[in-house]
Amino acid sequence: MLSADQLEGFRAKLTAARATIADQLTHVVDDVSFGRDTEDTEEETDEVEEISNRLGMKVALQDQLSRVSAALDKIGAGTYGACERCVSPIDIEVLDVDPESTLCRNCKRGTRDASK
Ligand SMILES: [Zn+2]
Repeated sequence: MLSADQLEGFRAKLTAARATIADQLTHVVDDVSFGRDTEDTEEETDEVEEISNRLGMKVALQDQLSRVSAALDKIGAGTYGACERCVSPIDIEVLDVDPESTLCRNCKRGTRDASK
């Protein structure tokens, strides 16, 4: 089990991560300017590419944001650090690398093998 200090550490880390992601999301959305007048077709192609890149980035950020929020919810609910599949505690080393981790090392490995 995680100590109260460790939990607080992860809470701080996740809260900071959530603020960073939310900020990045705002910029990704703001910077996309649809229907900008341009005579240059090459530039238009670049713009379309740019927009699709940004949309991909936006989806990735939203996904990350929901994972971070789910982890914070779990801290609040007192279930943080438990594997969602086998309910055994997730190693602190795993959480250090990926604080929004929902699976223990064994289950993660199992998922990877199954998807092969
Ligand atoms: Zn597990």
